[in-house]
Amino acid sequence: MKPIYLDYHATTPVAPEVLEAMLPWFANNFGNPASRSHAYGWKASEAVEMARAQLANALHVDPTEIIFTSGSTEGLNMAIKGLAEASMDMGKHIVTVATEHHAVLDALAWLGKKGFEITTLSVGKDGILNLDSLKDSIRKDTIMVVVMWANNETGAIQPMSSVGKICRDRGVPLISDATQAFGKIAISPVESGADILSISAHKIYGPKGVGALYINKNLRPRPEALLHGGGHENGFRSGTLNVPGIVGLGKAAALSHMDLERSAKEIGQLRDHLETTILNELESISVNGHAQHRLPSVSNLAVAGVESQAVMSRFRSKLAISSGSACSSANPAPSHVLLAMGLSGTEAKSSFRFSLGSPTTKEEIDQAAQIFIDAVNAEREISPLWQLMKSGTDLS
Ligand SMILES: *Cc1c(COP(=O)(O)O)cnc(C)c1O
Repeated sequence: MKPIYLDYHATTPVAPEVLEAMLPWFANNFGNPASRSHAYGWKASEAVEMARAQLANALHVDPTEIIFTSGSTEGLNMAIKGLAEASMDMGKHIVTVATEHHAVLDALAWLGKKGFEITTLSVGKDGILNLDSLKDSIRKDTIMVVVMWANNETGAIQPMSSVGKICRDRGVPLISDATQAFGKIAISPVESGADILSISAHKIYGPKGVGALYINKNLRPRPEALLHGGGHENGFRSGTLNVPGIVGLGKAAALSHMDLERSAKEIGQLRDHLETTILNELESISVNGHAQHRLPSVSNLAVAGVESQAVMSRFRSKLAISSGSACSSANPAPSHVLLAMGLSGTEAKSSFRFSLGSPTTKEEIDQAAQIFIDAVNAEREISPLWQLMKSGTDLS
């Protein structure tokens, strides 16, 4: 038996309809969409433009505002470095938030070494940024604000309309990492005032290694390209297009937006069921992140008195979840997102991320909850830290 998969924020399986849509574009219809002189190229180009239209439709934007990338790491690097390069003569100050993905934080750290000044806003215990701090942080020489739509670890959803309004009022471009929000909640960059948005196919039941940027057609200056070559994608991103991947991304975007509200509601009910089951059975557990303003697909729990690695090693063959973010799982450092929310290193290292997907069933949730509860109980049994905490409460 395969372990129950509750790590959909790390990646998702390709949906059968998406795979089916992709298959003809590997061998049968193999043309290069940049080949303008024959039918092979025209056909591939049509498929790419269809996917562009599907994405534009899901985001309520113009197809000319969509640029294909290899995923959100590239998209965010391109948006941030490309806009920094293009805005050199306007200033060197950039504002972001401490809970951003490493694709944002590390790209900004690189710019920091090149002489840019980065202001990193803190968040509250709920993972939400403070709008007054944002207002105060913007200066005459601020060239961009980077705020993620929804957090991959806690699901915390930032107040993007207010963030966008502040940026619009001050004339500063707003870049948003919408990788987790897209396909899970309704988002509109135009309504919210985001000038650039990044999304990734493999978080929405599409293939790995493909994504897209929305770039507002009125944004000035235009971000500089990172990749130079044949001038594909209006010169924003050279390189032969990944046609099967792009077709898959378009299909995945269309599928996820067919019944967005109902899917969100169903997945939210399962998440709430998981959370109440665990919270009813175990004491001294708290939910990390805003209780309401968060994605319906995720539950991040701090479990007092245990180390998440030790608990997870008890059910590796039965249940696949994450401690902190998947990207930092290789090094067991406490999650920068949880630390930014005010958790101690110990609390962060005793936190777990359950993330649900459209294939998730009630049976899986019931089983996963029981596996998790048993493992925490067993671990607490032998945890000196837990024994100490318990005797502490007994004494008070
Ligand atoms: C997965 C993820 C990324 C990175 O996207 P890739 O397409 O895997 O490079 C960036 N930001 C968030 C919030 C993510 O969840």
